[in-house]
Amino acid sequence: MQYIYILLLGGNLGNVTQTFEEAISLIKKKGELNSKTSLYKTAPWGFDEQVPLFYNQAIEIMTDYEPMEFLDFLQEVEKTLGREEKTHNNRYTSRTIDIDILFCGNIVMNTPRLTIPHPQIQNRRFVLEPLNEKWSHFIHPVLHKDVATLLGNCNDCSEVSLD
Ligand code: ADP
Ligand code: MG
Repeated sequence: MQYIYILLLGGNLGNVTQTFEEAISLIKKKGELNSKTSLYKTAPWGFDEQVPLFYNQAIEIMTDYEPMEFLDFLQEVEKTLGREEKTHNNRYTSRTIDIDILFCGNIVMNTPRLTIPHPQIQNRRFVLEPLNEKWSHFIHPVLHKDVATLLGNCNDCSEVSLD
């Protein structure tokens, strides 16, 4: 069975562009890369202190890895590319790379380790702007609205721009 995932890469430490390229080349080994968006930059989100700008890029990959296996693999990629273990305070932290599963076709799942669609998509402009570049007509399988509509309704005012 083939699964079509839309992933969001994010990061703000080190050479982010190069790290994203390395992540994409590792991910490509497990399937077929259907598309990737431009690189977006965003003012840091949810931080009190000054930290480097965040970069985001969304990609679509077709693979026969089922969701839980794919999450394991993506977390290995994060480790390989230098992501530190999460600090105990559970806050959003600076990182070399974060790879989140946004969508897996129309699959809906909710387990302690994995929620698909990603529960914060509709609340974050840095997710919706890249999504809207390639998948504006994609219908969110839980909210039943397309990406363009979710973006239009999003209250997050952070500035997201093309790199
Ligand atoms: P965040 O992405 O919120 O900054 P992490 O990348 O450290 O935080 O992820 C925390 C946990 O979120 C992961 O260990 C993973 O099990 C879980 N998780 C739940 N749903 C998803 C998803 N859709 N994509 C990626 N991780 C997810
Ligand atoms: Mg993550």
